Amino acid sequence: MDAFSILNQPVVSLKGIGGQSVTRLEKLDIRTIYDLLFHLPLRYEDRTRIQNISQLRAGESALVCARVISCSISHHGRRLLNCQVSDETGLLNLRFFHFTAKQHNSLTAGTLISCFGDIKEGYSGFEIIHPEYKIIQSAEQCITQDSLTAIYPLTEGLRQSTLRKASSQALELYNASSEELPDLLPKALLNHYNFPSLNNALNTLHTPEVGVSSNNLLGTNPALKRLAFEELIAHQLSQLQRKTSEKQWQAPKLIDQPEHSQQFFDALSFKLTQAQQRVIQEIAVDCAKNSPMLRLIQGDVGSGKTVVSAYAALLALSNQHQVAIMAPTELLAEQHRRNFSLWFKGFNTQIAYLTGQLKGKKRTRVLTDIADGTAGIIIGTHALFQDAVNFSRLGLIIIDEQHRFGVNQRMALRDKGQTKNSKPHQLIMTATPIPRTLAMLNYADLDISVIDELPPGRIPVITRAIPSDRRDEVIAKINAWVAQGHQAYWVCTLIEESEVLQCEAAEESAQYLSAALPNIRIGLVHGRMKAAEKEQVMLAFKQHELDLLVATTVIEVGVDVPNSSLMIIENPERLGLSQLHQLRGRVGRGTEDSYCLLMYKAPLSNTSRERLNILRETTDGFIIAEKDLELRGPGEMMGTKQTGQMQFKIANLERDENLLASVSKAAALIQKDHPENIQTLVNRWLGTTTKYAEV
Ligand code: ADP
Ligand code: MG
Repeated sequence: MDAFSILNQPVVSLKGIGGQSVTRLEKLDIRTIYDLLFHLPLRYEDRTRIQNISQLRAGESALVCARVISCSISHHGRRLLNCQVSDETGLLNLRFFHFTAKQHNSLTAGTLISCFGDIKEGYSGFEIIHPEYKIIQSAEQCITQDSLTAIYPLTEGLRQSTLRKASSQALELYNASSEELPDLLPKALLNHYNFPSLNNALNTLHTPEVGVSSNNLLGTNPALKRLAFEELIAHQLSQLQRKTSEKQWQAPKLIDQPEHSQQFFDALSFKLTQAQQRVIQEIAVDCAKNSPMLRLIQGDVGSGKTVVSAYAALLALSNQHQVAIMAPTELLAEQHRRNFSLWFKGFNTQIAYLTGQLKGKKRTRVLTDIADGTAGIIIGTHALFQDAVNFSRLGLIIIDEQHRFGVNQRMALRDKGQTKNSKPHQLIMTATPIPRTLAMLNYADLDISVIDELPPGRIPVITRAIPSDRRDEVIAKINAWVAQGHQAYWVCTLIEESEVLQCEAAEESAQYLSAALPNIRIGLVHGRMKAAEKEQVMLAFKQHELDLLVATTVIEVGVDVPNSSLMIIENPERLGLSQLHQLRGRVGRGTEDSYCLLMYKAPLSNTSRERLNILRETTDGFIIAEKDLELRGPGEMMGTKQTGQMQFKIANLERDENLLASVSKAAALIQKDHPENIQTLVNRWLGTTTKYAEV
């Protein structure tokens, strides 16, 4: 694309675009005609036909031609203008929260109007809030359009009509010019899927043809699929690019020192599993290279990832480098501190512990130890990438429970350990096994090791589903359980989005259980308690000064109390399968039978029932992950919203699942045959600026 290309023309050259709208378009990363072409509609409105009121459906938008029956200002609650209209087939309410006296006066009984808007089910029939409307003289003036109307994503202050005008001008200019956007996808793939050309696809989505439905355009239309495919490939290529560029950095060679590792392994109270040994080998090979390791360890809850990461830490220490271990919660960080203190007792290494709670002199002290290299092992939470933290010789970063952190956070910590031409090695652990197709898409920048074996002697947790109206039985069971000297967890799972509500629910449950179980020592942990308080309760539980621990899902990661072998999960239907599996992984760590009771609220939907059944039937995290994917779909499963990972302009993991398996293949093909296309593709779909900032 040369400088004089139509596609390079700035948006300001378009009619009706200037001043503020230029700035606003820029907020959407739209600067040129080219950018407009790739700013694709979010959805479509159907103004192609006048609909009978009797045939309206809530949730859809519709064009209606009707006469005003009555129009009045209502003062119930909020002041609003309520206008009832009717065609021959039924009644419809138009409601305006903002209106003028003129508007009120003009909508007299008998006035004919055409109106358009989203149909809602109101308390007195169908309604449209703030419809677009026009007073007309005869039904012929109720103008319909030939095809669907595209609705574009906007930004504050930018009008839909402005964007639509800009977009249609851009398309016209492009179509009229002799230029053609080069197709960056391999021909063979386009043919294989019967995909239209890029030109064609863009035209179809911006200006739908007559007769094409919105469901089709947002569903199975090949134009959409083709662009979604291209976007997915671009994401994959961008990750592969990142991998390549990361690998070009230097990294300290961390060579295994046999006498150190011998000492380390000998001091362990257990023998490593085959799987652990294999992954340790993979790490040793990576770390001995002078380019940075980027490795993800996937392993089920309890598969013993921590000790494997501790071996990696040993490699760093043996080569006079520091290691940073970052955990998503304080509970987990604290547990790592305990484990690492134990495992590195014989190595004369100082462990620094840094969380957000640490203040004042103590914090200064820890920061100094990290900066001057006194501390060899640094364990902490997000606090590790605060500005004040400076490492002396960071050789390795270990990140636990990667799904809790975004890619950006991962990268931010890496950048901290960076010197002029060298970056630390990186080891990432996750207990949320994700299915292969998704792993390839999401972790294409990482090498993956799998610990697919549990330490011997683990007895599978016996899982049962029980309706909550049998709560009394469950409570009796706890009583008997504790009488035998065991401990138990009671997990409250209320509403994920609200930590406050979740904590309140846990407090309530704790009170209720205290009343119902007067002879049992009950503790409570939730996310809003101070770290020190949490720590105290956890410690008391670990030392068996408490029998029952009531908790929110904060215990999902980080608790390891083998004597606690009964877990009750309240409202398990609210959580994803993988998350339930993680929670359940807290029990079954001892040598006796252990139980997980899923106390659901009846009646269960079919899907919920199916999900709970899967948990009862299997304890294999990978199988559970596959099922989770099947039942919830990839978007929700990956928690896209929480982590901000994998946000797409047009691709939709649920809808486009059938394409996922081909994405890697296509990306590889482009890498091999058309490496010159990679950057254009990545820029087209991910923008030219890599957004690292939001840590
Ligand atoms: P996760 O993979 O879920 O992080 P952990 O690393 O916390 O699992 O290990 C769970 C428990 O199993 C810990 O108490 C750990 O010390 C123990 N463990 C790890 N490896 C083995 C092994 N090979 N044999 C016996 N116990 C082990
Ligand atoms: Mg762990």
